[in-house]
Amino acid sequence: MKLTCTCNHPIIDNTDGLSHKGYVISDAHWNNFWDAIDKAIEESGPSPEDKERACMSVRQTRPFRSIWECTHCGRLWMDNPAGKLVAYVPGNGTYNRVLGNK
Ligand SMILES: [Zn+2]
Repeated sequence: MKLTCTCNHPIIDNTDGLSHKGYVISDAHWNNFWDAIDKAIEESGPSPEDKERACMSVRQTRPFRSIWECTHCGRLWMDNPAGKLVAYVPGNGTYNRVLGNK
């Protein structure tokens, strides 16, 4: 995926491990997500197929939404529930590395 920010800076999403990309989960989904992990650990069967099925059931909950931070202006971009990108502009107007490390 390639997104061009309102400031015209490209936001590249072509690999894993990006420091300007993250995932957001609502508080409404937080406990359900951990309950699904608990269930997968506690109730999966002994076979590799059982464990694979349990892992896939957690992955299929998809409680996270992707979020990208423009490394030029700091805008945060994320999908709304309809799948349309919306932007949030930081008050200080700069790249704050809110998704990355130091
Ligand atoms: Zn930007």
